[in-house]
Amino acid sequence: MSSTAPELQQAASLLRDAHHGVVFTGAGVSAESGIPTYRGQDGLWRRYDPYQVASIESFRADPSRYWQVALERGREMRQAEPNPAHRAIAGLEEAGHVEAVVTQNTDGLHQRAGSPQVLELHGNARWVRCLDCGAVEPRPQVQARLERELPPRCLLCRRDRLKPTVVFFGEPLPQDVLRRSFELAEDCDVMLCVGSSLVVRPAADIPWRALRRGAPVIVCNDEPTPLDARATVVLRGRAGELLPQLLELVVARPAAESALR
Ligand code: NAD
Ligand code: ZN
Repeated sequence: MSSTAPELQQAASLLRDAHHGVVFTGAGVSAESGIPTYRGQDGLWRRYDPYQVASIESFRADPSRYWQVALERGREMRQAEPNPAHRAIAGLEEAGHVEAVVTQNTDGLHQRAGSPQVLELHGNARWVRCLDCGAVEPRPQVQARLERELPPRCLLCRRDRLKPTVVFFGEPLPQDVLRRSFELAEDCDVMLCVGSSLVVRPAADIPWRALRRGAPVIVCNDEPTPLDARATVVLRGRAGELLPQLLELVVARPAAESALR
């Protein structure tokens, strides 16, 4: 039996009773899909300085640094598929216990796993917009010409300030998405936080809001987070291993529980 069995059972019982659960995710939920996180053991920050690469200020000064990293990381992003954690989260929604997924990720893997209600706090990596003329292009199209053109140029105005539709450091979050996420935190009957270091603000304020108004909060992360001491349940380990077990306990209670006993 896994040492987390009692915690899994406690988390499952909270989710089973919920009809308006919210799942809050960070880069760790996509780590097992091969997309590196920023923080954590294999985090990208050990290889790049994110403020140099993905802050709006440095991007405006020189977009080539961002696109150089994009060229290097292109393959791992393109090949990424949803993993068992994304699928288990979609399963919790399908079973009627979770109302929405609030994510800091820009990779679109929740949607591809079948999650119908995804709020993207930090935008998405599907499009690229020209900062000069406003022209919009699909990201894969721009990515394809990086080999011969770096930084890539706008097809319309030929200038070289094409920026992905992700929120960079120093940029505001989409206000409508942020507002809706706080509303969900106000109304949820449980919040499950998965694969987030819970230090990037204002996103990290969302689970704190749920906690302060008395909703049970479950943290699933492979390393400690600042919220652990106040969380109702902490599931320590890899999301791709823990969440499928959790889903099984939630939807197939008698059989799964007796197997864990
Ligand atoms: P983060 O990188 O700060 O933290 C990720 C957390 O996940 C860490 O605490 C790490 O220990 C944990 N983790 C790693 N692998 C895990 C696993 N298999 N199971 C469970 N936990 C695991 O990520 P964040 O909190 O989302 O915030 C950083 C910012 O990085 C966000 O703004 C986000 O937009 C951006 N980001 C997004 C992606 C993506 O879209 N996939 C990837 C990298 C960074
Ligand atoms: Zn342009």
